Amino acid sequence: SSTVLSVKNLNVTYKTATFDVEAVKNVSFELHRHEILGIVGESGSGKSTIALALMRLLPNNAVITGEASLYSRDGSRIDNVLTLPEEELRRIRYRWGKISIVFQGAMNSLNPLLTVKDHFIDTAQAHGIDKEEALKIAADLLRSVRLEPARVLRSYPHQLSGGMKQRVMIALALMLNPDVIILDEPTTALDTLTQRQILELIRDLRKERDVGIMLITHDLSVVADVADKVLVLYRGYVMEIGDVYTVYSRPYSPYTLMLINSFPAIGKRIIKLKPAGITATTNNRGCPFINRCPFASIECADADMNLIEVEPGHFSSCIKANLIQQQVAGKVMASE
Ligand code: ATP
Ligand code: MG
Repeated sequence: SSTVLSVKNLNVTYKTATFDVEAVKNVSFELHRHEILGIVGESGSGKSTIALALMRLLPNNAVITGEASLYSRDGSRIDNVLTLPEEELRRIRYRWGKISIVFQGAMNSLNPLLTVKDHFIDTAQAHGIDKEEALKIAADLLRSVRLEPARVLRSYPHQLSGGMKQRVMIALALMLNPDVIILDEPTTALDTLTQRQILELIRDLRKERDVGIMLITHDLSVVADVADKVLVLYRGYVMEIGDVYTVYSRPYSPYTLMLINSFPAIGKRIIKLKPAGITATTNNRGCPFINRCPFASIECADADMNLIEVEPGHFSSCIKANLIQQQVAGKVMASE
């Protein structure tokens, strides 16, 4: 399937009064239609920053460089996603029309005083769609997120369960039929059963709708459940990227290995992982994982963190990727 979003060398730095936070470092990836790209990383690794950069919703203290192109199904190609002036973004309905997002924690941001119907009408009217049309679209969308329109449209947020609210948020994000949808921690606040149902819905959307989906999570098992590809992020750097099954069964980055190790549901690890004891002050040089890495050696302090293709379609930024894979081969067992 075709590329819908291409991101090259994305960097985001937050300027603060006292210091700069380099939140996203040279991140590149491609997203295809009908594909789910999982972005995983621990808290603070830059996941939401990537999302906000692509939405062009970063705060004013953020400095952004890099390139991103979006290929819309209407045949248009937006090459300067990261620099397009605000008025142009509006004119082409970039936000919500080309790319939309369900924000982290969004289901709690529904207005308690408004019914679901009001939410749909407000969103539609903000984009010049009239009320009647809005209600038709809303009913279709609610059905596609497996909600009963008649009942849900007249409900207030407090009358809906967490899972239902999340479905409403997803439906709202789909209102202008975007080419790309970003889901930032869509299952985090939900109980296990509801979580599973939302993931099933996301899987269905990927099949049924002509979109590319970016699924942001700190939970490796969520990615294992639904994503096609995974991008592993650590302190703003892409540590590894590739097909989910390939990355989980043959991780070429020690950081990925460590993540998998800490999720027993996904893989069983046999070898012990203890930091090698290399300490380096990673002041914007070298591998950010050096101090915690079991395989680190002194040359890692100078690593350039460029992605190396370790097998077709599978990239790692670890300079010792091949050596590590040889050492762990056969000792990592993916559960599926
Ligand atoms: P989480 O899993 O907790 O949501 P995340 O991976 O989404 O984390 P980001 O929110 O993208 O991480 O933050 C990346 C880094 O940028 C963090 O160090 C964070 O403290 C910093 N940061 C985020 N927003 C700002 C801001 N407005 N000003 C300064 N620093 C910021
Ligand atoms: Mg976040």
